[in-house]
Amino acid sequence: MPEEPCQCPDCQRFYREHDRLIRENPTLRQQQELSWAALQAFRTLSGRVLEDLQKQLGPRSSDGQVHATPVGSSDELTDALQQAMADMENINAHLFSIEALMERIFDVRVPDEIEQKFRELAGELAPDPLNADRLRLNHLLHQTPDLPDRS
Ligand SMILES: [Zn+2]
Repeated sequence: MPEEPCQCPDCQRFYREHDRLIRENPTLRQQQELSWAALQAFRTLSGRVLEDLQKQLGPRSSDGQVHATPVGSSDELTDALQQAMADMENINAHLFSIEALMERIFDVRVPDEIEQKFRELAGELAPDPLNADRLRLNHLLHQTPDLPDRS
């Protein structure tokens, strides 16, 4: 018997989101556009936050030391800001690397027959939850006596 997937609220939210992204973007082209837009949105927002933190902490010299302590802020706050800035620099560096890798995937175009296969399999993997057949099937499943999560 296959192991039951975890049903905690976080995992359930993930499954729902995962299936929705397949259902609403059932072609290679749409998956490419979706992932690219998500990555760029993440980069734009993180980049702006980093810029803002840099302004808040004041200019750095070439040896990377922060000179100006922001007026009216405690050392503790400055430390926290510096840590956050280091974290954001890391995230942005990783996002940049991911972008470089994604570009290669996203150059690919496939013929319509292959896109049709994407659509077919998307329908199997993430069927419309409001589809009548799906609702009936769910109902039947929940009536099966030996399912562990039956309430
Ligand atoms: Zn879980």
